[in-house]
Amino acid sequence: MPTGRFAPSPTGPLHVGNLRTAVLAWLFARSGDSPFLIRIEDLDRVASREAHVQAHLDDLAALGIESDGPVVRQSLRFDRYEAALARLGAEGLLYPCYCTRKEVQAAVAAPHGPLPEGAYPGTCRDFTPAERAAREAGGRRPAWRVRAGGERVEAVDRLHGTVAAEVDDFVVRRADGAPAYQLAVVVDDHDQGVGEVVRGDDLLDTTPRQVWLARRLGLDVPAYAHVPLVLGPDGERLAKRHGAVTLADLRRRGVPAHAVLGAIAASLGLARLGSQVRSVTELVTTFDPRRLPVEPWRFDPTLLQ
Ligand SMILES: [Zn+2]
Repeated sequence: MPTGRFAPSPTGPLHVGNLRTAVLAWLFARSGDSPFLIRIEDLDRVASREAHVQAHLDDLAALGIESDGPVVRQSLRFDRYEAALARLGAEGLLYPCYCTRKEVQAAVAAPHGPLPEGAYPGTCRDFTPAERAAREAGGRRPAWRVRAGGERVEAVDRLHGTVAAEVDDFVVRRADGAPAYQLAVVVDDHDQGVGEVVRGDDLLDTTPRQVWLARRLGLDVPAYAHVPLVLGPDGERLAKRHGAVTLADLRRRGVPAHAVLGAIAASLGLARLGSQVRSVTELVTTFDPRRLPVEPWRFDPTLLQ
């Protein structure tokens, strides 16, 4: 069975929705006796906070989730992303894009051929060296895009079946020089030997781009399982404004991690409502990925208090 992983971004505390995805990723891996890894996605060095890194690891440990290998940090792996960018560049698959955010939005809004809604239409794709030089002279720093050109790519997801999309020329290096998430995640999953990516289904749409990149870089394409997001009582994606949604918030209100894990387990049909679960290890024998609820879970923090 393939190695699994959970890869949080330390830009804020983990909420119950993030924790449920972590529990699922752990259960997918462990139900197949596979290793499970934690990766800290601190690619965004401005928004990432060191305090959140430790809090994430502590929260996961409180549920019984630990990494079977070293906790990998994206901020220490820029040489690997540079190597991948160099390979794409050497194959003629990159070009500089001088569009501002506003220009991209305007270009994206205009109808253009077979590319899906929201796709970059290739404005800067065929610039001559003179056209590029003119923009550089104006002080614009380019982002770098891949020449995917609307290639149709299929990905297979355990819950959603076949997901197909025309892959547009997406950004792999941002204008500030940082590698884009799409690139880092593909390189990381390969380097860590991750065979199954379990994550929130808000990332389902990005999957064909990542499959395209993995193939171009000669990397194995992992299996995917995009699990439903957790919603607040109002049906909107769970967020801070829904009240006590982190382990720390809930603990302050007298709700222990075991009760939170019990609620998560109940939402997955693995425990009775109101039960306490000490560790994810208690759930592994009853977990069956084929019987996973595919509807989003509405979490009402007040019901735990
Ligand atoms: Zn452009």
